[in-house]
Amino acid sequence: APVIVWFRKDLRLDDNAALTAATDTGRPVIPVYIREPVTAGTGPLGAAQAWWLHHALASLATSLKKAGSPLVLRHGAANSALRTLIEETGADTLYWNRRHDPAGISIDTEIKRDLRAEGIDVRSFAGQLLHDPTRLLTGEKKPYRVYTPFWKALEREGEPPEPIEAPAHLKAPAKVPLSDTLDDWELLPAKPDWAASFKEIWTPGEAAAGERLDDFVEGAIAGYKVDRDHPSLDATSRMSPYLALGEISPARVWHATRGLKAPVDDVIHFRKELAWREFCHHLHFHFPALAEKNWNERFDDFPWEKAGTDFELWTRGMTGYPIVDAGMRQLWQHGWMHNRVRMITASFLIKHLMIDWRHGEKWFRDTLVDADAASNPANWQWVAGSGADASPFFRIFNPILQGEKFDPDGAYVRAFVPELEHLDAAFIHKPFDAPTDMLKKAGVELGTTYPKPIVDHAKARERALAAYKSLKNA
Ligand code: FAD
Repeated sequence: APVIVWFRKDLRLDDNAALTAATDTGRPVIPVYIREPVTAGTGPLGAAQAWWLHHALASLATSLKKAGSPLVLRHGAANSALRTLIEETGADTLYWNRRHDPAGISIDTEIKRDLRAEGIDVRSFAGQLLHDPTRLLTGEKKPYRVYTPFWKALEREGEPPEPIEAPAHLKAPAKVPLSDTLDDWELLPAKPDWAASFKEIWTPGEAAAGERLDDFVEGAIAGYKVDRDHPSLDATSRMSPYLALGEISPARVWHATRGLKAPVDDVIHFRKELAWREFCHHLHFHFPALAEKNWNERFDDFPWEKAGTDFELWTRGMTGYPIVDAGMRQLWQHGWMHNRVRMITASFLIKHLMIDWRHGEKWFRDTLVDADAASNPANWQWVAGSGADASPFFRIFNPILQGEKFDPDGAYVRAFVPELEHLDAAFIHKPFDAPTDMLKKAGVELGTTYPKPIVDHAKARERALAAYKSLKNA
């Protein structure tokens, strides 16, 4: 009887323990991807990531077909979709790689219990994380709440398991089950095609993930520790969208950093970022409400402003602070934003506009190709100060100084805010302070060609600090 391999956020053949185990049985393999309702661990799926998912599935389907057994697409609740597939094919075995988000886990646990009771051999494998969140615990067997001891524990665990090579050949079932067509899922934007510019930046798919990783470890990883903070440089790995849908495994990325000629400091720093991903996922595993509730309940009384016009101007990159606007426009145009600028834009929304981080989290979820149910809310809470091991609320980023420090010549701003392209570097992060004749020469008319600041930095800072002090026990 055939073995079903249920693909979720592991859209790859490489380092795929479930797929390899299924192949090793010597029996026919039926690879299936199920479009589950948004409540499941696969969701909620934002529009930008839906674009990515479409291409990732198309790429996976091509690879599986080439390997010998085509991908079957189904939709609906996984429990019933799998049951139907088992009835149709006579499969008696079901394998998958574990997901660690609480919603996904509860679905998987139920499926395991029900199908095992009916005599189906259901097995799950590791692969989405470097280490299992049930194992990496403190001395008191509690989850880590602080990153540094978490990192130390991760180091103590030693290297994650060696990645497994992709199986060379999959045996197809005698009769290939019916499949949905990808186009019918309408994952791509209808007209207007707001994702048109994504194609110029990104190539989804497992092969592209591997190529990008090779380029990175042979190139930009040298210098990563410093250069990673400069948004105009292509100095980071850009592995995030591939990791988010599992087109590459974190273990594969980790092991690619072994034995490099690059300075050890840069390599460690990169691994520490991978460990942040891991930390976010472990937090989410232990704290299911990460995207809905303040980790620190003290923030439940925060006097947030309504998410009205200011919120809209923020989403459109029209706040009058160039580094913030450049970031928000990069997000819209590329479905991705540089990490430094994610921190600046998030801080601006929360502290300058005093808008609840959950609105920002939702906007990012819908617009990021790397939207991740653990990393996104964990980072938003980190910036807000409400999270586990968060940056303190009273540390308020000055968007002008941040811009001057990390984008000193304004190259990043110029790339995304063309209205300011000709402005002198000395004022590119504060056009509102530029002399009138300089603005005129650069073709900038504040309030017309580029907005005046929607809030005054110093006043916004005072307001945020006063609000924070008003909290009980702040
Ligand atoms: P690199 O610098 O090359 O890092 C390598 C990998 O490490 C990344 O691909 C990512 O998997 C991981 N990583 C790096 N920094 C972080 C971090 N702070 N937290 C968790 N993992 C990290 N990352 C997401 O993958 N999905 C999200 O939805 C997401 N939302 C964010 C929201 C906010 C407000 C902030 C401040 C950060 C968010 N991040 C998110 C983290 C980080 O910005 C991105 O992972 C990173 O910019 C991706 O680019 P890269 O792959 O080139 O990173």
